[in-house]
Amino acid sequence: MSKNKGSFACSIDLELGWGIWDRINSSSLKKISDLERPICNNLLNIFEENNLPVTWAIVAALLDNKNKMISNNNADQNAWYAPDIVNKILTSKTKHLIASHSYSHREFQNISKEETIEDFEKSIFFFNLINEKPDVLIFPRNQVFHLNILKQFGFNTYRSVDKNWYRKVYDYNKYFGKISNLIDKVLPLKSYPIEPKIDNYGLLEIPSSVLLIGRNGIRQIVSNYSMFKKIKNGIDLAIKNKECFHIWFHPSNFYYKPKSQFDLLKKIINYVNLKKEQDLIEIKLLNEFN
Ligand SMILES: [Zn+2]
Repeated sequence: MSKNKGSFACSIDLELGWGIWDRINSSSLKKISDLERPICNNLLNIFEENNLPVTWAIVAALLDNKNKMISNNNADQNAWYAPDIVNKILTSKTKHLIASHSYSHREFQNISKEETIEDFEKSIFFFNLINEKPDVLIFPRNQVFHLNILKQFGFNTYRSVDKNWYRKVYDYNKYFGKISNLIDKVLPLKSYPIEPKIDNYGLLEIPSSVLLIGRNGIRQIVSNYSMFKKIKNGIDLAIKNKECFHIWFHPSNFYYKPKSQFDLLKKIINYVNLKKEQDLIEIKLLNEFN
């Protein structure tokens, strides 16, 4: 792990309906079908314009035209099958990284080792169809489990949870965790750079610094001013400590107030690129920390 300078990384979980497969309803399905593609196009354009490569963690069932959601429910396949989006990522002028977000986004905390193995095998099969062999895993719902079998499926690296303080509260109590998450975003408190480290299984664990939260419901009270200030401080601290600032989100975090969300993202990218021009920071994909 080079520590010559600070770094910036961005990871995006691409899941469409799979992210909420166990609590899906018709209005969320409609939102996914209507909004996910234009948002991904917009993101890819912004990354291209700013020459910013990012890590896309993809639910492999999006590449499976016979996946159970299409076959069982006769559902709108736009929400469950998206090789078109994956193809746009792969053919973008900016060289992004494809990571795995599992085959079907089941909660690893609640499935057995055998079920996890089956999930990995299926995901590898479908990634293989697009000539990808992801070595980075982003766990569904950030449930870091079954670490002991990652290596045998070619994974060397995984994303773990926000380093922020609210996570500690969340582990203790989900309800208070959500409130602390919000307080954490509303107040321009510090956000922390992270340092990847080798875990007990010889895997590289990369925590995240901050989630670019969506702007629905009560979260609207979080201003772009406080989010940007917090993120800018985190980037500055990453430069100072020669660590990494790692932001993550889903395209669905842009469903509400998209203009304002895209403005915020562009502002963050402009700041990162300014620091890059000053030779103070480098942009990293999640497989570039070794
Ligand atoms: Zn997910």
